[in-house]
This record gives sequence, C-alpha cells and structure tokens, in this order.
Amino acid sequence: MGLEILVCIKQVPHPDHFSEIQVDVGRGRVIGAGIPVIMNPLDRHALEEALRNKERFSGRITVIRMGRPRLQKAVEEALAMGADRAVLLYDTAFAGPDTLATAFTLFHAIQRLGKFDLIYCGNETVDSGTAQVGPQLAELLDIPQVSSVQEVSFVDEKSLEVRRAWEHGHMKVRLKLPTLLSVTRDINTPRLPTVQGIMGVPQKEVIIWNAEAIQAPLENVGLNGSSIYATGVHEFRAGRRREIMQGSTGEKVRRAVARLKELGAI
Ligand SMILES: Cc1cc2nc3c(=O)[nH]c(=O)nc-3n(C[C@H](O)[C@H](O)[C@H](O)COP(=O)(O)OP(=O)(O)OC[C@H]3O[C@@H](n4cnc5c(N)ncnc54)[C@H](O)[C@@H]3O)c2cc1C
Repeated sequence: MGLEILVCIKQVPHPDHFSEIQVDVGRGRVIGAGIPVIMNPLDRHALEEALRNKERFSGRITVIRMGRPRLQKAVEEALAMGADRAVLLYDTAFAGPDTLATAFTLFHAIQRLGKFDLIYCGNETVDSGTAQVGPQLAELLDIPQVSSVQEVSFVDEKSLEVRRAWEHGHMKVRLKLPTLLSVTRDINTPRLPTVQGIMGVPQKEVIIWNAEAIQAPLENVGLNGSSIYATGVHEFRAGRRREIMQGSTGEKVRRAVARLKELGAI
C-alpha cells in the first residue's frame, strides 16, 4: 500500500527581489505584484524528504498550497520534482488570513482529501516566517508534530525517530504515524527537477478547490477566521554613511570606537 504523504508548500517572493517589494503605508498593505515567485525554500527540503520516503516504502505524494492560482511556480516545481498530484486552494473568502486561518483552510482540505501517514511542512517561510502554520495544523488534526527536524529515520513503516535542532545541540524523538514534521535545511539536499519530470507536469492531476468544495465554514478562513489584524504598516529604510578614520591602526580603532559611541551605536 505504501505511505500517503502530504507536503504543504507556500509560494513566496524570490529573495533576490525582496528589495522590489513596495509598502503602501497609507492603505496598510505590502505590494508584491509582479515580483518573481518560488516555492518556499524549506518546502523543497520537505518535498525531498517525502520523495525519499516514497522511494523506500512506495506510496503517493500530494502537495497542497493555499494561494492565488495566477502563477503556479511552486506547484509546477513540486510536480516536476516528483510529487504525484497537487491541490490548490483558492477562493476570495481565503484572502487576508493570519496563520490560524491558513491552518484552518489547510485542515478543511485535508479532511476532504482523507487520511495521511505523514505531513511535511517547511519549518518557516522566507516571507512571513512565523513558523506557526505546521504546529497549528497538527493541533487541528490532533496528531503529534515535531518542528526543527534535521533527520528522519524510520524505525519501521509505522514509527519514526527524528532528530530536531535544540539550543546548542539536538534532541532525538520517537513517534508513531500519523505525524506532522516541520523540517530545516539540514535535513537533505533537494533534487533538481529532471527534463523528464518537467515534461510530465501537464499529465499530473491538479485539483482546485474553493471554500465550498472543502466545506470550510466561512468564519474559519481568510480575514473572518483571523484573530490577528494588521493595524498599521511601517516602512523602515536603512541608510549607509561612510567615514574614513586616519592614523595608525590603533588610532583608527580608537577613533572608530569613539565615533560609534558618539552616534549612540555602542
Ligand atoms: C495580520 C495578518 C494579515 C495577513 N494578511 C494576509 C493577506 O492579506 N494575504 C496574504 O497572502 N497573507 C496574509 N498574511 C500572511 C499569511 O498569514 C501567511 O502568509 C500564512 O499564514 C503563512 O504564514 P507564514 O508565512 O508565517 O508560514 P510559516 O508558519 O512560517 O510556514 C511554515 C510552513 O507552513 C506551510 N505553509 C505556510 N503557508 C502555506 C500556504 N499558504 N499553503 C500551504 N502551506 C503553507 C509551509 O510548509 C511552510 O513552510 C497575513 C498575516 C497576518 C499575521
């Protein structure tokens, strides 16, 4: 039968283009339209781990993404890497979510999809980066979860031992399936999609579901389901100033320290 594995993937702005993100302070919005997008980097590590699990035990990998269908970079990349099918959740009712509303939307879709042995998330995203969606989703599904995962070893097909980062060391945890794991970049090196993988994308199943399809109560999703609201957006622009200290090395250091104290930097 093999493993039923779900990988949660978020599409994020390409970090090389973060400086192009505009802030509309007046309307309290962050504008990222037109900026190239990628699959959240840690989600590629999550998918790689799922692919390795499937290679060992067989099974099926589904990727799920809540977001606008306009650009499908993340889903296309996931299917090209080897995911078997994709689920895209899109509805205007899903707009303006905090992390809890995001987790609720994923939860309702998972209820419709059926049972999974393993759910993988990235530990955090490169844009909002709260690291909350994975733990919140596990809580809603009432399954155990481990975050900051660096290594996954199967004890047998029904239980795992995982290593998680912990302060200046690591912790080993044993747990039974089903479970949700949020992974770090140490876990593996994600594969690149092959030409065959890319060519096979159009043949793979992509399911698009709205709020009605996943029977999500409208009070649980989007802005309605959010318990946190942005009350203002403030733009911070860092400037640079250059001053050259003259003298011997010792004098330069003393002058630099004095100047930094004068500026209140130290
Ligand atoms: C007050 C507030 C208002 C917001 N308004 C908006 C808005 O109007 N529009 C908007 O787009 N966003 C909005 N956001 C951001 C939105 O809440 C986050 O993008 C989303 O909840 C994911 O949070 P994160 O990036 O911190 O994920 P993290 O918790 O850091 O992500 C961990 C992992 O969870 C999974 N994951 C996260 N998001 C998704 C997803 N969408 N689909 C599938 N898997 C996912 C991935 O595996 C990811 O690696 C708002 C956030 C707040 C706090």
